[in-house]
Amino acid sequence: MDALNRRDFLKGSVKAGTAVLGMAAIAELASKSLSRGTAVAEAAGPLPEYKIYACKYAGPVVRSKALSQWNTGWDEQIPINYYVWAVRGANGETTVVDIGPSTATAAARKVPGYVNPVEVLARLGANANNVTKVVLTHAHWDHVGNLEACLGAFPKAKFYIQKQEFDFYVKNPLVLRKPIAGLFDPPASKVLDRMAGSDRLVIVEGDANLSPGIDLILAPGHTPGLQVVRVNTVKGPAVVGSDLAHLFQGYRDDTGSCFIIDMLAWIQSFDKVKSKAAIELIFPGHDVQMSDNYPKVAEGITQLV
Ligand SMILES: [Zn+2]
Repeated sequence: MDALNRRDFLKGSVKAGTAVLGMAAIAELASKSLSRGTAVAEAAGPLPEYKIYACKYAGPVVRSKALSQWNTGWDEQIPINYYVWAVRGANGETTVVDIGPSTATAAARKVPGYVNPVEVLARLGANANNVTKVVLTHAHWDHVGNLEACLGAFPKAKFYIQKQEFDFYVKNPLVLRKPIAGLFDPPASKVLDRMAGSDRLVIVEGDANLSPGIDLILAPGHTPGLQVVRVNTVKGPAVVGSDLAHLFQGYRDDTGSCFIIDMLAWIQSFDKVKSKAAIELIFPGHDVQMSDNYPKVAEGITQLV
């Protein structure tokens, strides 16, 4: 059974007809796709290996280190970059992880060095023909805001978001409260609301298999329903961790950014994700080292694995 062809229908806050990829759908696949190098996986044949690219769409922005490294270094200034990621298989089929902000939002927020992520991805040859899946790790403006442009740019692609994230950012009036509203992207949430019920949006419930060798891992804390992407690579399992931590140092020092909506959930998610891959293969959300320390394959694009 292909988990992605299975369609459950969620009762409750999501509109009827919205595709839901849930625990039931992954049950059969779990032993193969969510376990690490087990005999079961070998018996089912080797999983495909993917390359992971960091695609810088803006930055650097220099700001207090404490924003990216929990409450440490308020008087220290460090640069951060803004990224989307591309996960590419041998046949060129590409899964995009996050989509950045819209051109209008980037202009309104005066994001330095902004290039629309669709244009950055095109430098890698990621386009309408080969982008089949887009993972939305969470609904902050710098990760989800470019939804309208990406719906048009990647017409074959389905978009994947966790139910907890969708319910909060699309349905919950608390997103308008001051500590939350600053990172909220109202236009993107309107588009998500519109997409619900269409076959372009897949609402995911918990950990799920996305493709052979690619899994979605629910990791709340930074936001109510952040998900990370675990990818089988030539070096073993790797994780596109998005903003579970902003910096590589966060994974080493057991700290995330200053933007955590639920600290206890975040700690549990951190432990969970760190158990899924070697620490040097867990990639953070905003670290300039992803641009500086890896082989450059095109302008703004580096190969992480
Ligand atoms: Zn971010």
